[in-house]
Parts: sequence; structure tokens; C-alpha cells
Amino acid sequence: MGDRWMLRGAEVLTCDPEQPDLPRGDVLVEDGVILAMGPELRAEDCRVVDLHGKLLMPGLIDAHRHTWQTPLRALGADWTVMDYLAAVRVKLSPAFRPEDLHAANLAGALEALDAGITTLVDYSHCMETPEHADAALTALQDAGIRALFAYGYAAGPQESTALPTHASRLQDARRLRTTRLASDGGLVRMGIALTEMQIPWEQSRAEILSARELGVPITAHCSAWPMPGPSEVQRMAAEGLLGPDLLFVHCTWSSEEDLKHIAGSGGAIAVTPETELQMGMGFPVTGRALHAGVRTTLGCDVVSSNGGDLFTAMRLALQVERARAHEREGLSRVLSLKAARMLPMVTLDAAEALGLGRVTGSLRPGKDADLIVLGAGALNLTPLNRPRDAVVLQAHAGNVESVMVRGQWAKFQGALVGVDLEAVRRRVVEARDAVLARVGGAAALLGEREALAAHWELGRAD
Ligand SMILES: [Zn+2]
Repeated sequence: MGDRWMLRGAEVLTCDPEQPDLPRGDVLVEDGVILAMGPELRAEDCRVVDLHGKLLMPGLIDAHRHTWQTPLRALGADWTVMDYLAAVRVKLSPAFRPEDLHAANLAGALEALDAGITTLVDYSHCMETPEHADAALTALQDAGIRALFAYGYAAGPQESTALPTHASRLQDARRLRTTRLASDGGLVRMGIALTEMQIPWEQSRAEILSARELGVPITAHCSAWPMPGPSEVQRMAAEGLLGPDLLFVHCTWSSEEDLKHIAGSGGAIAVTPETELQMGMGFPVTGRALHAGVRTTLGCDVVSSNGGDLFTAMRLALQVERARAHEREGLSRVLSLKAARMLPMVTLDAAEALGLGRVTGSLRPGKDADLIVLGAGALNLTPLNRPRDAVVLQAHAGNVESVMVRGQWAKFQGALVGVDLEAVRRRVVEARDAVLARVGGAAALLGEREALAAHWELGRAD
């Protein structure tokens, strides 16, 4: 397909504060960039796609996903967070080989694209060897998705011969930053995913400082359960380590003071409502974070437990927050959190949180053409009375007909482009089989649970 596209006649939701929605508009894309938007644009030498009766909006941004867990789909449907840590982090993570990681990340990134996610924060913390890191990164590049490849510093439960020390892990991230991810202009950019903080804190500090040296965004699980002593955010604030390059994840137990610190530093929070509600991490922080003025985003987190689409995440985050308000206020007279408020969380605010606000996250001339087409003629969107609200509360991933990433169609009229789906399926099933065989089958997954709980209690006592 060519490099110049006229997307004609859609109802356009720009998700941009300075670019009004168009009830019926055209979008001209050239060399990956939105050149013009408006009603009845005139243009020569372009391929025209008729989008009458469709919705056009920015591609969605998943701010937190462990894409490598794709082969583990739904195995953790009934797991708490301790079950999850015991099964996934202790048992399954070391059982992945680089080829499994590639199959997992490729299938996971394509699943995301298929569901209208054009940008992914891949919190990639399954780095047993440098070859694991390379395989995970290659798969994201192969999928054609825009991503922050957040190199996970977390070590596995056993000593790795390839990356035996904390310093060697930091050095391996530097290797990628100085070679394959030296440019910040590619679709896949470098980031750092911290090890769970505070265990020990000196290590967390070294990780943050190393990421700053590399000049890349940082993302970190934070306050997902109550901990004694100063919180991660308090420690960072005390040492002057907070900043706009930090994307905290969960923060379900963050204090109001912590949230103010994050807001004041320009940092952001990724809420993952489905995992938080399921696993016992407390209530999603959405409403409190917004109230504190924190840039708030959403993520799917793990398809080892829950679904991998952001329509569900938007809906869940919104309705849980409303339920909490009703409970607090005794049947609220007004719903203060509006449905359409969820859209920036998966578009422009998420782009800003990744330092990509000038590039993606909304539709306006000059930005990259990261966009999705929803089939508004589907019965679940008909009649289309309030398009923004309908996207949040009524749309689902099956409505995503076409997906463009930087001017290239990743999905077109219902089908992923240039993808051998059979091969992708076969490889991710093979990865599932290989990983489960190495740990002694699914029945053996929770064997370390009690030992892990004891370890975690020890960690808390530090
Ligand atoms: Zn996570």
C-alpha cells in the first residue's frame, strides 16, 4: 500500500483539546504523518478509503502490559497476587527461553494491535539472558507496534549465569541503549522497568540513576499492597528522585501525599483495574489520582489473568470509581466522573506520560498517523448517540476494523496485515507447551506459594 492516504467521511474523535471533533471529516496521511484534517479535503495522488458510517480516533495506548505472559493466557484466572507471584515470577518466568519470549511478544503485540492498541508499554521483566532481551525486542519490532520496550531489571529466583549480578543487568540494558535502541525516533523506544522497589532500596536507587544516565523513561510497580515504613514515593521525594520520566503502576495504596508528590513532579500513574480488583491489590486509584492532578493512564497488565483490551479497562475503571463514589456519598445525585474522561487516559495523557505527546495520542496535523477505525454500524454502536461515551461504555475490541501505526496499516478492514496468523498461533501454543513442560505442568504452579509468602514477609521487615 502507498504512502499517501485519504481517509474519507468518518466521524472523527480527535481526542485533542485544540482540534475539534468532526461529525464527518477527512484525514490526509502522508509519509506516516497526518498532513491535514477537515471536511471535504481535496487531494490528488492518494489512495482513498471510504469511512462513511465509521468512527475514526487515535490509536489506544496501553500503559502497562507484561507482553511476555501471552502464552500463559487465563492460567491465573483465579489467582491472588501471591498466587501470581508464586506461579509466574518464581516458577514460570525462569522457564521461558528466548524463542518462547519472541513467540509470546509477537502474539501479544499483534493481539494488542488487533484490539486497537497502537502503543504499548511492554514491562519486560523476564530477562534471564541478553538473548531473552534481544528476542523480546525483536518481536515487538516484528509486530510493527509502537512500544516502549521497558527493560526489566528484576532478577529471577535462581542465579542467572548470563546475568549473574545486578550490575550486569544494568550493563545489559546499556548494551541495548547503545546499539539497537540508540535512537529515540524508532517505533520501539527504550525504557527501564524497575525491580520491585525497596528490596533493597539501594538497588532501586541504582536502577533509577542508571535509567537517567541512559536518558530513557522509567516505569515501576508501586504501592500495590500496604508496606510499613516510608513508601517508595516518599523515599524518592526525599532523595530528589521524582520526575516527569516516571510512570508508576498501580499505586492502589499510595497516600494522598504520595499522589501529590507524583502530580507535582509531572510523573504519571498506570491503573490496571482488572488485575488490581482481581488479585487483591486494593481499589484502583483512578479517582484519587485524578483528584490529585496526576496524569492517569490505563493498562491491561497480564493476559495470564485477564483480557488484553482497553475498552474493558476503561469501563471497569470508570464504573468501579462510580461505585466507590456512591458508597462514599450515599447514592450520589450526580456522577462526577464522566464517561468521556476515560478517553484521554488511553490516548493523549498516556502519550504525554511516555514523552510522546508531540508524536501520538491524538489526531492533529503534524502528528504521526496512529489511528483506528471502529465500525460504527455494528449493532452495539447503533444508534450512535454520544460517540465518545459509546466508545467508553459500549464499544469492544471486535469493533476495531482498521489500525494504522505511523501511516502503515497494521490491520485493514478486519484483518491483520502481512501476518501469518497460523504461524503466530502455532508458535505461541508451542511456547505454552514448552514452558509448562519445564515447570512440571500447570498443576505444579502454586507449589512455591508458602515459601514466597515467607520471603515477602521477610522483605517487608527490612
Ligand atoms: Zn505489572
